[in-house]
Amino acid sequence: MFNKVLIANRGEIAIRAMRACRELGVPTVAVYSEADKNALFAKYADEAYLIGPAPSSQSYLNMDAIINVAKESGADGIHPGYGFLSENAVFAKKCEDNGIIFIGPSSSSIEQMGSKIAARTAMKKAGIPVVPGTEDPIESVDEAIKVANSIGYPVIIKSSAGGGGIGMKVVHSKEEFDHALSAIKSVAESAFGDSTVFIEKYVEEPRHIEFQILADKYGNTVYVSDRECSIQRRHQKLIEEAPSPVMTPELRKEMGETAVKAAKAIGYENAGTVEFLYSKGDYYFLEVNTRLQVEHTITEMVTGIDLAKDQMHIACGDKLAYKQEDIKINGWAIECRINAEDPLNDFAPSPGKIKKYRSAGGPGVRVDSGVHVGYHISPYYDSMISKLSVWGRDRDEAIARMKRALYEYVVVGVTTNIPFHKAVLRHEAFRSGNLTTHFIDDYNILDDVKRVVEEDAEKGATLASALDDREHKVAAISAAVGAYVNAVKDSAKQ
Ligand code: ADP
Repeated sequence: MFNKVLIANRGEIAIRAMRACRELGVPTVAVYSEADKNALFAKYADEAYLIGPAPSSQSYLNMDAIINVAKESGADGIHPGYGFLSENAVFAKKCEDNGIIFIGPSSSSIEQMGSKIAARTAMKKAGIPVVPGTEDPIESVDEAIKVANSIGYPVIIKSSAGGGGIGMKVVHSKEEFDHALSAIKSVAESAFGDSTVFIEKYVEEPRHIEFQILADKYGNTVYVSDRECSIQRRHQKLIEEAPSPVMTPELRKEMGETAVKAAKAIGYENAGTVEFLYSKGDYYFLEVNTRLQVEHTITEMVTGIDLAKDQMHIACGDKLAYKQEDIKINGWAIECRINAEDPLNDFAPSPGKIKKYRSAGGPGVRVDSGVHVGYHISPYYDSMISKLSVWGRDRDEAIARMKRALYEYVVVGVTTNIPFHKAVLRHEAFRSGNLTTHFIDDYNILDDVKRVVEEDAEKGATLASALDDREHKVAAISAAVGAYVNAVKDSAKQ
């Protein structure tokens, strides 16, 4: 095992990795920006180092500063979390070159999967079904029209270096290409420093289904669980569940084995996710995410496997402790990403100070979070408040539990997307499991969100006012204690 691990990340995922370290008895090192000097993750670690100002480019993306802290503090491993440097092949290579173990796949796997075009080509070669489309970059509108004519509209233009739902545009007719191609190229250039784009068939009524995989250094690769991530806004996930409601044992075996084949085709090591689009019985490879994902919690809940700890074991050279047949799916888990964002204002981020906070709890509830009362959600970083995950014996129980947990959750001070989650969870179409990535539009969910917001306002946010009562009582007690102490002091003086 490691002597000491540096966590090159912030917020809830930094704490998640530190929790794994703590359970393994490994001391931790946090790196933080000026904006995060009072953040929980920086206090949670055994050691913490300031690495720069708030903008990520000067702190969480500053590779040399992070490597220097690792060396100075004697850390022999770096856990990158998700986002920031987690899928940066140059950083993984720098770790390798400095004799520090990057807790993730090799820099060459990251590099290969970092390009969607290279990933598509590698997968096609390995016999994995990919969405029909181009293997080569698209340079001109004429070329784009030719490809679209051959695969049929609608198509999607995608940035090869893209991620986080950024750098994609659906095109329904040839007239749209003029504007769409140059628009995506310039978004791709400014967001990823790479304007390479390609074209895929736009799969209709797709479901996003992905497989968690784990691979050790000795060729043992397993699929751990499937996850359905179809509830998305702007191609970004908001609610995930494990398993997928469409999964049968046969389909799980087939898609899971395809995911393992995909991982083996690129010599993948450590934890990763193979993403597919599923439509009308067919499935297509989408991409491999070469890191621990936000939604790993629900896989942990239905399998009992601790993915963060296993990442560390694998990185240290331990063999996987189980075989495919040992992995069983038990019950159902759902995750809601609780963000400081306003669903009724195009999901715009709503940074600010959390004035009151009480997370949900009780049976089957897991909250991964780095916030607390007084915490300031910074405009510099993503607007996640927490990941609320629940487990139930079956899907109905998991849904009921999530509804109950959302009812309990109190966040005052910033606008949150809790009403969005409540609206989805109570919708009959969600309950029926009949999901696609267009769920929000297909069912006019935002109208329901408006209703939830009104209802919550009418109910007077009962639990939040209970916190008020408690705060008043705490204030009254501390005033009484203060008065007593003063009285004692006064009498001692006399
Ligand atoms: P990113 O790397 O930005 O997350 P992905 O390729 O993983 O991009 O796609 C993100 C989401 O975009 C998918 O979950 C799906 O909703 C949508 N999407 C991507 N490609 C297609 C496609 N060919 N057809 C339909 N939807 C797609």
